[in-house]
Order: sequence, then structure tokens, then C-alpha cells
Amino acid sequence: MIQFIDKCLDFCIIVYIGKGLFMGYVNYLKCSYCGKRLEPNLIWNLCPVCGKPIIVIYNLKQLRKVLRRDDLLSRAPNIWRYQELLPIDDPDNILSLGEGYTPLIYTRELGRQFGFYNLFIKDEAQNPTGSFKARGLSVAVSKAKELGINELSMPSAGNAGVALSAYASMGGLKSYIYMSRDVPKTFVVECIARGANVQLVDGVITDCARVAHEDNIKYERFDISTLKEPYRIEGKKTMGLELAEQLGWELPDVIIYPTGGGTGLVGMWKAFEELQKLGWVNSKLPRMVAVQSRGCAPIVRAFNNKKKFAEPWPEPVTIAEGLRVPSAIGDFLILNSLRESKGTAVAVSDQEILRAIQTIAQTQGIFLCPEGAATFVAFRHLRDQGWIGDDERVVLFNTASGLKYMHLWLGKDLLLNINKKS
Ligand SMILES: *Cc1c(COP(=O)(O)O)cnc(C)c1O
Ligand SMILES: [Zn+2]
Repeated sequence: MIQFIDKCLDFCIIVYIGKGLFMGYVNYLKCSYCGKRLEPNLIWNLCPVCGKPIIVIYNLKQLRKVLRRDDLLSRAPNIWRYQELLPIDDPDNILSLGEGYTPLIYTRELGRQFGFYNLFIKDEAQNPTGSFKARGLSVAVSKAKELGINELSMPSAGNAGVALSAYASMGGLKSYIYMSRDVPKTFVVECIARGANVQLVDGVITDCARVAHEDNIKYERFDISTLKEPYRIEGKKTMGLELAEQLGWELPDVIIYPTGGGTGLVGMWKAFEELQKLGWVNSKLPRMVAVQSRGCAPIVRAFNNKKKFAEPWPEPVTIAEGLRVPSAIGDFLILNSLRESKGTAVAVSDQEILRAIQTIAQTQGIFLCPEGAATFVAFRHLRDQGWIGDDERVVLFNTASGLKYMHLWLGKDLLLNINKKS
């Protein structure tokens, strides 16, 4: 029977490709925790059985027969060059602003100054909307449109809200964003300017999520929160696909990623698995490192205590807005990928982050966001401890533009501090 279905699929693919039409390779959806299989192309949030995140499973055996990695060479430099590994069936539904294919910068000057020579920064600041959140929301909003959804809602620490507003407005969908009252005003302004409905909530992002949830039920809006629907992770996964492609299909030894909800980290880990199944990479998989801020480090604590899930962090405080996530629905997925990859988790202080932003701006010319700078701090700790070897190839992720965080610098006597070279 399975062989028969296999044959039929082969046939369909040949017919469609022969006509020059694109057919998606989504096989089915699956709960990441209990394994329950679910129908693709129905509207899903969390698993109806256990309440955990749902992921997309592709027909990689079929894809392997029709797509070679060299076929990518002639395609446009954005995430949709990997469209066979993304969940959209009809390309007309794709909402794209050219997200992805960000530069992988070899940090020669930084290396010269500090004596390491295999360090790269994947600069996600160069995405539309100024952060890597554009990847996840380009895919998730496109899929929502394909599924006929009209109203999208989410709690946001800033960057996700900005990206949602952009793609929703572009696709003619309504967006409702719940942000903490103390979120930097630049994020609020950018969401409103891009056409979103913004509601400010007293408390942290989990409080925003609670208020959003109540409204979603009342007004029948779709919750597009990270990992609470199956498709944002598919967009974020493209960071892993690109990294492989940009390094000539040889994965680095270590990836250091600033972890909030963890979708980026879990997404990349999923990407590497898919690339292995396609036979596109042979190298061993990277050790994945999650970085958090000392003021909000639930994953680091759970990793160190060998826990399967993370306890919520009571009072999250950090300048790295994207890391101010006291509890993540995908906590067990993050912890799994750290352990499976023989990686680790590191907490760094806001002071170290601020210093690192200045150091890198002055040596390498990149103005990192605090989350991105946190990965450099973690890198230095791990090298000092010998956890990262001298000749290991390391990739840091700068997840957003430093320009989003001018509130950290304005009126703070910054220049005096810099001249002292603290
Ligand atoms: C959202 C965000 C993060 C955290 O990303 P996850 O993939 O959800 O862990 C890190 N940095 C920035 C700038 C963000 O906006
Ligand atoms: Zn389940």
C-alpha cells in the first residue's frame, strides 16, 4: 500500500512539474510531543490531544528525487528559494518583502583584536522590518491567507509585532497586537504605522498573552503566537537552510543563538534534520547554544538542572526585549535540541551586553541589537572555559537591528563611556 501511494505521488509530482506548476511537499502535520498525526490544510493552533506545538512533516523522500541543491543557484536570494521546504501550496499566496538570505559576515577585524579566526555573524538586521521575525511571519501570514483566515492576533515584545503588521497589511488581513505598557515606544509606533491594532497591557508578555487569548475567543481571531501555530517555525527554519548553503553545505561546529521563545533554535535544528534526509549535508551537526539574559533565564536554569520542561521565570527584567520570555510553550523542544546536539545554555548580564555592542561596533562596524550582542558575550565565556576550541567554526546570530534600541543610548552619556573604552 505504502509503495502504491509512493508511486502515485511520484506520478503527481511529475505531472505537476511537467506543467510548470508548483505543488507543495507537505506530507502531514504532527504533534511535536505526543506524535498525533493531523490533517494539513485545516486550521490548527496547538495539538488537540496534549496542547503542545504542531510541526510540519514534508515528503522528503519524493523531494529528494526531484530537487538538487544546485537547483537553488538560479533562484532569488530570499527565503522562498526553499519553497519546496515551505508549507505554501499556491505561490500566489506568498507575501514577501525579500526576507532572508542575510549576509554571513566573517568577523576578521574582531578576530584580529581578540585572537580568534573562525567567527561569523549571521546579520539578521538586514531583513525587511529589521529583524529575523520577518522570516517566520512572511510564512505564517502567507499560510493564514491561504487557509482563508482574516484576523490575526499575538502578544509581542516588539519585533514580532512589527513583522506581523507588515505582512498582514500587505495581505489585506487585520492584525491585533498586545504589548506590555513598558515596551519601547519605537515598536508601538512601527506597528501602528504599519496598520496594526495595538493594545497596551499592564505586565509582561505572559499577561499580554492572557488578554489576547480572551479577545481571540470573544472575536474569533486566529492566534499567530510563536509555536502556537505550525508555520512560523517553518519560516525561521530558513536560517538553518541558508547557513548550510552559505557555508557550502558544511555546517559550523557551534551555533550561538539568543533564545526567547526558542523558535529560531528549534527551527534550525529541524532544518538540519531535513537537510540530512535530503542528503544535502554530510558533516556532523552543530552544537547548539542557547543564550539568555541573567534577568530572564528559564531555559538556562532548566538545562543546568537537567529538567525536561522549564519553570516560568517570576520577574523577567532585561534590556534584550526578545529574551524577556518567562515561559516558552516549546521549552522541551529547545531543551531537546540543546541536548541532542551536545550543546549548552549560557546566561549573560545586561552590562556585558552593552559593552559588547560597543566593542563590536568599534572593531567590526556592526551595530548589534542586545540579543545579538549576548551571543558574543556567551562566545567569549565559552572560549575562555575551553568549551569552544581555537579552530572551531562558530556562528553568532544578530537577530535584529541595533537601531531598534536607540532608547538604550539616547541621553545616557554614551560617548564619554565609549571614549574611556570600558
Ligand atoms: C524574538 C527575538 C528573539 C528570540 O527569538 P526566538 O526564536 O523566539 O527564541 C531574539 N532576538 C530578537 C531581536 C527577537 O526579536
Ligand atoms: Zn500532542
